[in-house]
Amino acid sequence: MMSSDCSDTASFSALPPGGHRAVARCDALGVAPYSEEKDQLFRPYLSASYRATCDCIAGWMQSAGMKTRIDAAGNLVGRYEGLTPDAPALLIGSHIDSVRDGGRYDGMLGVLMGVELVAHYAAQGRRFPFALEVIGFGDEEGSRFPAAMLTSRAVAGLLKEAPADMQDPAGITLQDALAEDGLARERMPEASRKPEEILAYLEAHIEQGPVLEAENRAVGVVTAIAAQYRFRVRMKGVAGHAGTMPMTLRQDALAAAAEAVLAIEKIGQSGPSDLVATVGQLTVVPGVPNVVPGEVVFSIDVRAGDAAVRNAATAEIHTALEALAARRKVTLEISLQQDLPATPCDAALTDMLSEAAQSVTGTVPRRMVSGAGHDAMILAALSPVCMLFIRCEGGISHNPAEAVNPSDVEQAFQVMTRFIEDFAGRRP
Ligand SMILES: [Zn+2]
Repeated sequence: MMSSDCSDTASFSALPPGGHRAVARCDALGVAPYSEEKDQLFRPYLSASYRATCDCIAGWMQSAGMKTRIDAAGNLVGRYEGLTPDAPALLIGSHIDSVRDGGRYDGMLGVLMGVELVAHYAAQGRRFPFALEVIGFGDEEGSRFPAAMLTSRAVAGLLKEAPADMQDPAGITLQDALAEDGLARERMPEASRKPEEILAYLEAHIEQGPVLEAENRAVGVVTAIAAQYRFRVRMKGVAGHAGTMPMTLRQDALAAAAEAVLAIEKIGQSGPSDLVATVGQLTVVPGVPNVVPGEVVFSIDVRAGDAAVRNAATAEIHTALEALAARRKVTLEISLQQDLPATPCDAALTDMLSEAAQSVTGTVPRRMVSGAGHDAMILAALSPVCMLFIRCEGGISHNPAEAVNPSDVEQAFQVMTRFIEDFAGRRP
């Protein structure tokens, strides 16, 4: 069942395939029934709004000449055949789900750019020696179940078995959520693709950061997705009466943690610009005004495009924390919570994307590391990947204020057409 926003009567129906229409369509999908909430955008995996969104995009895919299907993991896939049937595909996409109170372009723009590209070539009757496939992944954000990117893992062949005991906040299991769409948890791995079926993966995504805007550029080329470490740190001192414990005798865990936070910030500032170190969470025990804090637990998140840079900064952080803990007589316990390797984008594809960007924008494009994770980092296990960043206003994302300039998106569209045609030209 199509909503009127998807129909030909919508305002964007007069627009030709391209960046402007991709933006208009993202906007159309920013409201109910494509959001769970009336007054904000929230589109979790396998929700009613997710389903409505897939139906709508599938309609657009079909109008663009694609055959559509929902794969075993609940991803939406559209296929536009190449010159010969069953040719391997250039896969283009991003994610359909959103965070709670999210923006309209995060993920969705990369999916709809794929649809626009196919519409553009279908209108010319043009086919390539490869198929074009467009994919909308289901759970990049992980905003429903306590896991993320299960659906891209499934496609990349990395999901041997989907978690059995996962529930959303309402107590609905992954199994039941899949069953509502006629899917099954045990069958999720069947979404996997063979390496010989996929030539490359191309993802366009808003930058979600301020660099392109600061440099007055419409697009940027991603060289790698950052390696990430996440730690939990526990510092234990001695709790004491805030009125009677002399300053000289205190073992104040919060004062130690405060020094740690500043040391971490300083180490983060001392490396290359893609090195970032963050303390985003801190819990004080007992956390009352009249007690010297006896214990503090906090998080550390360290990322860099090069794992060696991340590791060196992390070693420096550990040394600094050990030194200050010893000096302040607090105990220190650091546990690793997450270790994501860096994902380099394919060098040859990235060069091709850079050349395409240069020919469209007239300047050598900015090459940058993505500090945020993307489906591309999972797809890299299946095929070579490359990523194009699009400037977003103020670098704001995961926020309803997320905004793009349609003319930037049109430039990105031109870059992607150029890339596809170069890709076709350079294949034997
Ligand atoms: Zn995203």
